[in-house]
Amino acid sequence: MSARPQPLDLAVIGGGASGFFTALQYAEVAAGKRVAIFEKSHQFLQKVRISGGGRCNVTHACFDPRELAKNYPRGGRELLGAFHHWQPADTVAWFKRCGVTLKTEPDGRMFPNTDSAQTIIDCFLDRADELNIPLYQNHPLSGIARLASGGFSLRFANLAEPVEARAVCLATGSLTGSPLLQQLTDLAQPIVAAAPSLFAFNVSDPRLSGLAGVAHPKVAVHRPGCKPAQQGPLLITHRGFSGPAILRLSAWDARAMAEAKHHFPLLIDWLPELKLAALVARFAEIRHSQGAKLIRNTPIAPIPRRLWESIIAGCDVADLTTWGQLPKAASRRLLDALKSSRFEVTGKTTNKDEFVTAGGIERNSIDFQTMQSRVTPGLYFTGECIDIDGITGGFNFQAAWTTAHVAATAIAIANAPAQLLQHDHSDAHQQQCQQGAHTAHSELSVRPQNRHAVEQVGFPL
Ligand SMILES: Cc1cc2nc3c(=O)[nH]c(=O)nc-3n(C[C@H](O)[C@H](O)[C@H](O)COP(=O)(O)OP(=O)(O)OC[C@H]3O[C@@H](n4cnc5c(N)ncnc54)[C@H](O)[C@@H]3O)c2cc1C
Repeated sequence: MSARPQPLDLAVIGGGASGFFTALQYAEVAAGKRVAIFEKSHQFLQKVRISGGGRCNVTHACFDPRELAKNYPRGGRELLGAFHHWQPADTVAWFKRCGVTLKTEPDGRMFPNTDSAQTIIDCFLDRADELNIPLYQNHPLSGIARLASGGFSLRFANLAEPVEARAVCLATGSLTGSPLLQQLTDLAQPIVAAAPSLFAFNVSDPRLSGLAGVAHPKVAVHRPGCKPAQQGPLLITHRGFSGPAILRLSAWDARAMAEAKHHFPLLIDWLPELKLAALVARFAEIRHSQGAKLIRNTPIAPIPRRLWESIIAGCDVADLTTWGQLPKAASRRLLDALKSSRFEVTGKTTNKDEFVTAGGIERNSIDFQTMQSRVTPGLYFTGECIDIDGITGGFNFQAAWTTAHVAATAIAIANAPAQLLQHDHSDAHQQQCQQGAHTAHSELSVRPQNRHAVEQVGFPL
């Protein structure tokens, strides 16, 4: 009779950013424990590959947890505590320890020095190899059941026998349309309906005709009667509006916009740095000092010239009107248009898949000190499958790294209370951040190379 395979200590479901980081973090602290990654597709880390335009915006140079948490339309409050355990400084130090240096761009986004997402992928695969973590692609999880004896029985579509694991970490990314939704419902795991976040707005309006490609460095956008305005650059596209201000608004108002089926009015303040009274004064000053100049030829900075021409045409200001000739009624229309232009959004433009999905595992159903389900002990969640999402700038990956670190540490403690841990992780990190270096590889238990495991098809545990 063949011996029954030993259960895994941790089965990580999903070979994306958060799945890899969970497995790596776990293997780094829980030496000798059995962890494996199961990925449904034929390729690991696919989203990392296409992230940041192929450069991978790994994190953001924001090292104050409170400030950092403000960049998450959903989940900032819950992540705040977790950021005290793993924040961008820890991410930077970890990658440095693994030989990957990150650089900071003027807007705070951090990328690998190589400007290539492949650097991050190679880093993860090499580290998994060093830590002897088996990696199984083409292994979609299709069933999960609790065992009376503790732990879980996992069914994979292409394996005849179930796999047993003491702990399971779901790192599956967006749960939209996932067959796992039913499994989670059966486990009584509360789930928040998915809604797209971080998308561009479709607007068909004669005022935008011929303006595709025009960029404005700073506008304020908001929906009437809704959350505060979002400020930042705006890009006029062939389909409407995009750019950081629009993406931010789409993130903060994602759920309400989904309820409105992405049809809503949008107000744009083209000069957010000037209050209405200051703009009125500016008009008076221009009329006085440049009264003979054509309005068309004297845009108010920083409005780009072509956009300015379109705005004044939209206010029925004739082409050859000078500032001195501007009638009062037209002046009022122009002030209104500059401070509050209204457009009708009639849909959203997505970039193949949604950039990020709001919704997923309900945050209240997770203990954020461990990332463990409050309803199913032993089941953990990391990354985008949770109802957490950040604005653009590296915040979504940071949420993946942070939740993965918290989960991995908690699972290691749960699985090996007596022998844990090789080093006190959080203290070590404090020190490493201060020293600008991380724990040496030699401190960690390095198991034999297992690169071949990436290619294998069966389940040889
Ligand atoms: C085009 C694009 C660019 C982006 N750029 C950035 C960026 O530069 N910076 C940033 O911070 N964020 C970026 N994001 C967001 C970021 O990619 C995600 O937040 C991040 O990938 C989430 O990681 P994850 O591991 O939770 O999920 P994923 O990366 O989606 O990984 C989940 C994995 O689980 C697998 N899986 C799903 N179901 C199963 C199953 N049943 N069994 C086994 N495996 C399963 C999936 O195939 C997938 O490989 C970008 C997103 C997109 C779409």
